[in-house]
Amino acid sequence: MKNIAVIGAGTMGNGIAHTFAQFNYQVHLIDISQTSLDKGIATISKNLDRMVFKEKISEADKTNTLSNITTFTTLAEGVKNVDLVIEAATENTDLKTKIFKELDAVCSENTILASNTSSISITQIAAATNRPDKVIGMHFMNPVPIMKLVELIRGYNTSDAVMQSIIALSKAIDKTPVEVNDYPGFVANRILMPMINESIETLFNGVAGVAEIDTVMKLGMAHPMGPLQLADFIGLDICLSILNVLYDGFKNPKYAPCPLLVNMVMAGKLGIKSGEGFYDYSKSRKAEVIAKMFD
Ligand code: NAD
Repeated sequence: MKNIAVIGAGTMGNGIAHTFAQFNYQVHLIDISQTSLDKGIATISKNLDRMVFKEKISEADKTNTLSNITTFTTLAEGVKNVDLVIEAATENTDLKTKIFKELDAVCSENTILASNTSSISITQIAAATNRPDKVIGMHFMNPVPIMKLVELIRGYNTSDAVMQSIIALSKAIDKTPVEVNDYPGFVANRILMPMINESIETLFNGVAGVAEIDTVMKLGMAHPMGPLQLADFIGLDICLSILNVLYDGFKNPKYAPCPLLVNMVMAGKLGIKSGEGFYDYSKSRKAEVIAKMFD
């Protein structure tokens, strides 16, 4: 595999594009919004600058990485001649099904179609195509250039050959792949989201404040980041939609999203990406938080 298309230039898409481009893959970065593409490239450039400053890569590596990325606003144009498509668009089942249907129609028959979904069924997404054996979940962690894990989700029909080639590809970009089966939330979010939801519920019930809850979990459980800050980092809208997938998928009230989370999302307080969540991310704060992640 040499040519890879990434759909969505948001938080995850630009990180995935950055990582593959750094390992010399030709990346086609696709988004419906030119503004998102411009922001995505600016973020990649800023993150590469940080790596140059820390002497992890050279200035030439940065130039080379950026030159490996081409941007597109049209799906059919962007997926021409690619071996793999990684979809990292907004977490919405209807949207993803629509994208996969279109991908199936326009991609060459050997192209593997992966989704970076946090929680939506890979089997359901694959059912929108005529190649369910070539559809797989490739769940990267945020920030992608830094985090080692990639959770690989085997849909009901994903073939062994596709799983093996994606395992090899993940290792080639210096990630550690872990294979899991396709049930709501997979492994990462099935365990993480109830903890985040419970920390929001703890705040909602007035048991403790934001900083207190995060400090207990950081110092008491040796977590590098408190659960409320992690929720801000992931995006509160993403957390809410993952909890809804867990709730719908298992029909178990233990996954019901806390009303405070629902309210914050309705109010547009989405965490770091909107400038406010449980914490304030004015321009300088945001730079400080991201810089810490890249240490
Ligand atoms: P985001 O909102 O930052 O970015 C989504 C991007 O998708 C936007 O730029 C939007 O313009 C674009 N988009 C929407 N519809 C599109 C279409 N039809 N074609 C092309 N582009 C389109 O979202 P994100 O946080 O990057 O999440 C993307 C995916 O990654 C979701 O499935 C999410 O669940 C998953 N994910 C997120 C995280 C995280 O920490 N944020 C972690 C792992 C996985």
